[in-house]
Amino acid sequence: RAKASGRGRAELFDEALRAQLVERSELQAAIAAGLAGGEMRLVYQPVHDVGSGAVIGYEALIRWDRPGHGTVPPDLFIGAAEASRLICDLDRWVLAEATAQLAAWRSAPGPARPGEPTVAVNISGRHLVDSRVVADVAAALEASGLPAELLVLEVTETVLVDDPTAYDHLATLRATGVGIAIDDFGTGYTSIGQLRSMPVDTLKIDRSFIASDEPSHRTLVGMMIHAAHAFGLTVVAEGVEEPCQLEALRAESCDQVQGYLMSRPVPPAQAGAAGSDGVRRVRAQEAVPAGGHPQVN
Ligand code: C2E
Ligand code: MG
Ligand code: MG
Ligand code: MG
Repeated sequence: RAKASGRGRAELFDEALRAQLVERSELQAAIAAGLAGGEMRLVYQPVHDVGSGAVIGYEALIRWDRPGHGTVPPDLFIGAAEASRLICDLDRWVLAEATAQLAAWRSAPGPARPGEPTVAVNISGRHLVDSRVVADVAAALEASGLPAELLVLEVTETVLVDDPTAYDHLATLRATGVGIAIDDFGTGYTSIGQLRSMPVDTLKIDRSFIASDEPSHRTLVGMMIHAAHAFGLTVVAEGVEEPCQLEALRAESCDQVQGYLMSRPVPPAQAGAAGSDGVRRVRAQEAVPAGGHPQVN
């Protein structure tokens, strides 16, 4: 009897696993079709200088308008794409789209001017270890005419620590002038000391640390900022939602902030209006709109 129920469980498990695999491959097929069919779009979240409030750049974030499903957020499909080569196609599309968008926002072509806003693109670890990543980034810059200095690649810390190939690719990319940011810092196992030897310019502190009320997290954020500065890195705090968080970050000399307090990710038409040349210099603390934020998610 015990045997029978054990076998029953095994069959149930097989069935569940099989269903999951089928579901995943159906999702992957839908992503591929959606990408080919123009269902993907980018929204842009401004990143502000803490001191002046100026927009120093935009992070491009993908959205999928899937027929019958509404707008699908990246957390619900990037994982499936990362389980196959599809993520490289997706990343390539994002690179092309985001660089073309920033090039279009620029008031004039030519070399980057000091203080001119950048565009940041999230690069998946799977793509970063692919030998084509360097050529993919170069192709997007070439096609858009965007100077390399105006593109930032966001990568997560785990991929850098685990893989020497990823490290080499990043170093090569950085040598071409592209900026490199470590995304979601603090959620992996990188120690701040390891950053010193990494080919990166910017540290983005994960929003879980910013949102936390715990005094130990407060202290940790301060330590991350000071250590990053000692290594010559720029620090961005992600997920700033409350004025008190902004004030605390200002007190710790954080360089840049990104979060719903300043702006949600918005469609290109709205982001462009924020002034891609940093023309509209809103002070970050004044940028809290009285009537709420535009909602696109
Ligand atoms: P991420 O790169 O860390 O992006 C920041 C995420 O935090 C975005 O979520 C953004 O909408 C959200 N966020 C920004 N400010 C706030 C805030 O004040 N409060 C809260 N609660 N959230 C805030 P989103 O757009 O859903 O993206 C989630 C993740 O999906 C991204 O995390 C990134 O890892 C990945 N992703 C997004 N777009 C792409 C893409 O084009 N390519 C790849 N490979 N990954 C992407
Ligand atoms: Mg990011
Ligand atoms: Mg992040
Ligand atoms: Mg993230």
